[in-house]
Amino acid sequence: MQAFFSRTEAGRELLGRFKDAKGRPDLPKLTVLKMSQRPGDAGYGGAAAVYDESSRTVILSHWHVVRQILAGVPAAEREKLGARLSDSRALAEYLRAHPAQRTAVANRVDVTLFHELTHAWQYRRQSLAVESIRGNAPSGIILAREHEAFFGGNRYFHEKLMCIPGLSRSSRACWPCRPPRASMRSSTPGRRVRRRPRPSMSSSAPSSPASVNRAARNC
Ligand SMILES: [Zn+2]
Repeated sequence: MQAFFSRTEAGRELLGRFKDAKGRPDLPKLTVLKMSQRPGDAGYGGAAAVYDESSRTVILSHWHVVRQILAGVPAAEREKLGARLSDSRALAEYLRAHPAQRTAVANRVDVTLFHELTHAWQYRRQSLAVESIRGNAPSGIILAREHEAFFGGNRYFHEKLMCIPGLSRSSRACWPCRPPRASMRSSTPGRRVRRRPRPSMSSSAPSSPASVNRAARNC
């Protein structure tokens, strides 16, 4: 997942927050669990993921992962494969044996993981969070936490789309992927375009269309 997040500024910012006292990467654990016995059960049956602070683990719902797998296989295979993957061990073996599907699933759950990792970051920066859960300290403002998590996830998704060749050249928001001069010119003569702050990497940005597309794939 780190490779996915590293492609965007929002993702790099998020990863950069998880460091131990010596500055080494210190990300929460990630696991896949049945948070309910059946998909659609009350409680966590419809949830995609949750962050558990007591074990410092992002938990992806078994059923959500199965849904992502089934979305990528022919319709005729879904019922049989879905029944087989209702078993936790079968799901783990399937993901181990199908690296391409594993990557496809990662590509479908990355925004969800971004959201939950934002919650993990909220717990780390607020040392009283655990005491709030225990009722020993006033609780935080849940809406504000969710706003930050959804806003960050949407920003990451936007930047992810901007990394797709063809989309990146048509959007001003994708400044890391655009040629440096084009991003500052207006198509209307005499009209000034507001400059966006550009990262240091833009000084070596390519200028030909072919090299722009190469850069877009790598950003
Ligand atoms: Zn949330």
